[in-house]
Amino acid sequence: MTGSEVLRRYAAAVADAHAELTRLDQVSGDGDFGDNLRSGLERVLAEPGEEHGFDVAGRIFLDEVGGTSGPLFGLLFSELGRALEEDPRAGWAAGAQAGLAAIQRVGEAEVGDRTLVDALAPAVAELVRGGTFEQAARAAAEGARGTAELVARRGRASYVGDRARGVPDPGAVGVALLFQALAESS
Ligand SMILES: [Mg+2]
Repeated sequence: MTGSEVLRRYAAAVADAHAELTRLDQVSGDGDFGDNLRSGLERVLAEPGEEHGFDVAGRIFLDEVGGTSGPLFGLLFSELGRALEEDPRAGWAAGAQAGLAAIQRVGEAEVGDRTLVDALAPAVAELVRGGTFEQAARAAAEGARGTAELVARRGRASYVGDRARGVPDPGAVGVALLFQALAESS
């Protein structure tokens, strides 16, 4: 499967989950996460020209998508785009790993800080050890669910403290949807 197929499927899943992503971010952030992710992906699909891959998604999310997480998703997409261009098969693991590293460099978030890293890191670990996309998707979904029990130390939700307990981090849920789209595309 190609990056653009995964992006199309991801955009559809995010559109379906928009209300839920918005609700989650209203608890732990400023409520714009669903809007930002959905409109960013719509912009990627609407770019004129050929089918668009993660390189285009990276550029659009880095340059045009707001919120705390827009640029972080931009880093992940850019690294995926770069790695998939080098190797359309093995690039998923290498790109996701490089994306995680870039996000952690910029955001200084570790596993357990209640950020999208809590979904991305376990998915990367699965891919790097040679796990399937389904296993990576399951790991990301479990990681995202687990953020419900974490108190934020980084990111927007760190301002609301305990109020977000019981509710998963929207960025982590957004990452889990990406790996689900990857698993369903393969
Ligand atoms: Mg926001």
